[in-house]
Amino acid sequence: MGGGWTAQHTLQRTMWLANGLLWPSYWFWQGAVATGVWVIAHECGHGAFSNSEALNDAVGLFFHSLLLVPYYSWKHSHRRHHQHTGSAELDEVFVPPVQPAGTKQPWYQHNPVYRIGHILFQQVLGWPLYLLFNVSGHSYKSWANHFNPYSPIFTKRERIEVLISDLALVAVAAGLALLGRSFGFVWLLKTYLIPYIVVNHWLVRRGWRLALMIAFLQHTHHASHSPHLLSFVARNHQLQLPTSRNSVPTAARTQVLGSYYAEDRRNVFQALWQEVGTCAHVAPDVDGPEDVYWFQSQ
Ligand SMILES: [Zn+2]
Repeated sequence: MGGGWTAQHTLQRTMWLANGLLWPSYWFWQGAVATGVWVIAHECGHGAFSNSEALNDAVGLFFHSLLLVPYYSWKHSHRRHHQHTGSAELDEVFVPPVQPAGTKQPWYQHNPVYRIGHILFQQVLGWPLYLLFNVSGHSYKSWANHFNPYSPIFTKRERIEVLISDLALVAVAAGLALLGRSFGFVWLLKTYLIPYIVVNHWLVRRGWRLALMIAFLQHTHHASHSPHLLSFVARNHQLQLPTSRNSVPTAARTQVLGSYYAEDRRNVFQALWQEVGTCAHVAPDVDGPEDVYWFQSQ
């Protein structure tokens, strides 16, 4: 009896350790590593991984597909994003609503409940909603998504590559379905889907150091409004370097950009909280030029 109780107690403690500690730490670290892999595939899309375009595309297609990203489709829309970053008319993604000069932020923008809801929604669903429905994206005349070769996002020449991306995703989805059938949906959820959500969360937070997180902060930070374009110039400049741009020392970047170099030292979660509360729309200054827009802090 006593031995049975002890064994059961030990089993319960082990289960608690596994569910309460080991799985969450696996999700965190697996999400972090997979975000790194995601970033390597992104570099491939920019032709920065290798001098060989074929190798860039092979590696990018392989890794982005494993992370359910349509490699070529996003490569093309993302290239145009870099070409037109910060343009209210031409940018591909994170296009803020433009309001007339003097428009105040909506009253609920600083409400903590709204902010938490907005952050959860954005971090979990932002990336798939962008790919599927072009949420926050460039305004097209018809439905734009990243899986349809005839989507208005793509040129005629790009359609075949959109199809290749789709076929690669079908293969990965079939593999995941087979794994789910063999090991169960809960296993698939814990092993793949939760880390996948963690990766998407880092992607949506716009700051290049981490990736929506990476992306969101990069497009909203107040200090980046004017130097923002330069930060992209710098990024593109770095892409010409033989090593990964992320390894370019800060000193070298400062030297190139001088006083235009901006660095945000806030904790990324603090930055996300603050900017979701202050970056609802852009508007021109009351007495400034009409074609320059700013996020409104009030
Ligand atoms: Zn990029």
